[in-house]
Amino acid sequence: MTAKTDNEWRAVLSPEQFRVIRQKGTEHPGTGKFDKFDKEGVYSCAACGAELYKSTTKFNSGCGWPAFFDAIPGAVTRHEDKSMFMTRIEITCTSCGGHLGHVFKGEGFPTPTDERHCVNSVSMTFVGEDGKKEID
Ligand SMILES: [Zn+2]
Repeated sequence: MTAKTDNEWRAVLSPEQFRVIRQKGTEHPGTGKFDKFDKEGVYSCAACGAELYKSTTKFNSGCGWPAFFDAIPGAVTRHEDKSMFMTRIEITCTSCGGHLGHVFKGEGFPTPTDERHCVNSVSMTFVGEDGKKEID
C-alpha cells in the first residue's frame, strides 16, 4: 500500500483524476476516453501503474463507462459502499487504494461472470499490445 498524502496525490494527478480516484468521484457517463475504446492491451491504475484489467475482459455494456466482466486476479479490492442511499460494491486498486468504480452483479450480460466492473476512464491508463501508451 502506497501511503501518500492528499497533497502528494494532487501533485501527480490531474484535478479530475484526484476528484475521482482520491475523492471517490464519478466521471460523467459517455465522456470517458475508454468508454468506446476497443484496442487489445492492458489497463493500469492511473495513480500507481498497477495492472488492473485486460482488454479481453472488456465488453460493451452501453452504460456510459468502460465495463469489464473480470479483473486481473488480486488487482482490485471490493468494499461495501452505502453512499447514495443504496448498497453497492465499490472497487479500489489493491496497490494504492485509489477509487476505480463499482461492481454490479446479475444484470444478465452474456459474459462468463455476469458481473459488470463499471470503471471510470480517468482512473486508468492503457498500454496496447504494440507497447504504445494511450494518452489524451
Ligand atoms: Zn493504484
